[in-house]
Amino acid sequence: MPRSIVTGGAGFLGSHLCDRLLAEGHEVVALDNLITGSTDNIAHLIDNPLFRFIRYDVTEYLYVDGAVDYIFHLASPASPVDFTTKSIQIMKVNALGTHKALGLARAKNATFFLTSTSEVYGDPLIHPQTEDYWGNVNPIGLRGVYDESKRFAEAITLAYHRAHSVPVKIVRIFNTYGPRMRLNDGRVVPNFIGQALRGDPITVYGSGSQTRSFCYCSDLIEGFLKLAFSDQTGPINIGNPTERTMLEFAQEIKRLTNSSSEIVFEPLKTPDDPKQRRPDITLARTLLGWEPTVTLEEGLQKTIEWFAKRLGATQV
Ligand code: UDP
Repeated sequence: MPRSIVTGGAGFLGSHLCDRLLAEGHEVVALDNLITGSTDNIAHLIDNPLFRFIRYDVTEYLYVDGAVDYIFHLASPASPVDFTTKSIQIMKVNALGTHKALGLARAKNATFFLTSTSEVYGDPLIHPQTEDYWGNVNPIGLRGVYDESKRFAEAITLAYHRAHSVPVKIVRIFNTYGPRMRLNDGRVVPNFIGQALRGDPITVYGSGSQTRSFCYCSDLIEGFLKLAFSDQTGPINIGNPTERTMLEFAQEIKRLTNSSSEIVFEPLKTPDDPKQRRPDITLARTLLGWEPTVTLEEGLQKTIEWFAKRLGATQV
């Protein structure tokens, strides 16, 4: 039976990955220091004998007993709100945490899987973004702590691959959403859905002309596994190319929730907020045979349902 470690295993995506790996017959050890993760996300797994949760900060020396086949390194706060409130933790987990996780992969002869980000492209000057684009990142901007530490994480991952022959995989995740996102996460999906369900104003930052492309979590996790079990190293973009402006997105969520909320405009929270973002997924399609299957409307319905239950709302 393969044995996998998932750092950030109690987070939004980490917990979905734990579910999926267990369903694939893996034994899973989840590590999380719970600064943005929550045991609520893994409560349903606690009695599973193939699952183990360890509350741990992976920036510290990392050791796990027994054989390990895969290390999925997901630990990192990822909401732009965290870029200000958890700036140093973000830099530590992506730099020191990635180093420790790579050291463990080397010691265990395990495959190392890095979850990188579309933020390595910064405010991109080419559109859609292909993996060979080097990006347009402001190292000293508010997003720099996340963008640069993820870029460092990619560099050290490939250094371990080249110097120590550690098998590695790098995925670049584009905006992803679904159940188990934190209600107060600050990212656009929980903000808009929460506001629409409560009847509060829906806050579009800036003019609302900036674009994002949203991938449902189950599609993303399927892409992870396709890459993990392939002979590819990456980096490979995984995301859904369906692109929307934030104003269109606000209108769509208002419609799907039958909300009476008004749409209001607020200043951008970060001046380097990317103006456009859409993955080119040609590599994922051709090398992994992966593409998203959940439409935005379908994924949003499921997410709205989950948030509505959490909020005890009746609007949907
Ligand atoms: N955004 C918005 N209203 C909100 C939250 C976010 O208009 O209440 C915008 C934000 O400025 C950005 C986009 O939505 O242009 C996506 O933001 P998010 O925080 O989800 O992540 P990002 O893709 O910027 O990392």
